[in-house]
Amino acid sequence: AKAAGKRCVRSSGEAVDAAVGRRTRLARDLPAAIAEGQLRVLYQPVVGVHDRRVLGLEALVRWEHPLLGTVPPDEFIPLAEEDGLIVPLQRWVLRVATEQAAVLLADGWDVQTGVNVSVRHLQAGCLAPDVAAVLAAAQLPADKLILEITESVLLDAHEGALGDLETLRGMGVVLSLDDFGRGWSSLAYLARLPVQILKMDREFVAGIDTDPRGRALVASVVELGRALGMDVVAEGVETEAQLAELQAMDCRYLQGYLFGRPMPFAELRALLAGFDDS
Ligand code: C2E
Ligand code: CA
Ligand code: CA
Ligand code: CA
Repeated sequence: AKAAGKRCVRSSGEAVDAAVGRRTRLARDLPAAIAEGQLRVLYQPVVGVHDRRVLGLEALVRWEHPLLGTVPPDEFIPLAEEDGLIVPLQRWVLRVATEQAAVLLADGWDVQTGVNVSVRHLQAGCLAPDVAAVLAAAQLPADKLILEITESVLLDAHEGALGDLETLRGMGVVLSLDDFGRGWSSLAYLARLPVQILKMDREFVAGIDTDPRGRALVASVVELGRALGMDVVAEGVETEAQLAELQAMDCRYLQGYLFGRPMPFAELRALLAGFDDS
């Protein structure tokens, strides 16, 4: 995951300067982004494989920079992690996501909202109390919140991290292993993690309809989840052909542009209301 985030600029020195300049600028402006409300949370639906009903959401943060426009999370989350701003940023995302999840619940929608967790927040030792605080403030039942964590939690974090995950699990929060399949140690660590959901990375889903080996891999992850009593979510579903394969494998939960792009909360509510009419 770290390598994927790195820029590999091989062109002119100018391009390097520009990239460094942008990075420096984003790092400088980030504190204001949080303080002045330039961040926003979009939601992407997670649907049931057979009826495409919305069963869940993933909260995805964006930065609306006043001059640079929309900055994607892959660009500024690493900066926040380096500069010690990740904890306030995550607190903000958690607060917004739980408040809006509570609104949906009050509307009568029984959906679970997933929030991406930074390993740094876990390392800081305050993830569990921060989650408890936002759930209480929003009066949201803990089982409506899914925390999406990557396995680097186990590689990078101190020993207390696992204990904190157990604490969150004990509170009733749902834990999901994100980007499953991208690391090497997935299988070795899987049994140790108190997770109920396996979220298959979209790189796996991408080859499912064209590459027999890709299909075999996805099918085996679905089976693995079933054997371990975990729900499996396939992300990055873009085509009907991919959907057909996932239906044949009975992968129950799907996410991707085929069903909906990340969208503002108001648009999501309209989408849910539209489902109600049909
Ligand atoms: P992720 O957790 O793997 O999230 C899924 C990413 O795939 C999102 O990118 C989503 O917009 C994109 N995606 C969804 N469906 C499709 C599809 O059908 N095709 C393609 N090509 N892409 C699809 P996004 O929103 O740019 O987020 C990138 C990453 O940033 C996320 O990857 C997550 O790791 C991180 N992130 C996002 N929000 C937060 C946050 O609040 N906190 C932290 N710590 N990380 C976040
Ligand atoms: Ca995720
Ligand atoms: Ca992630
Ligand atoms: Ca992913």
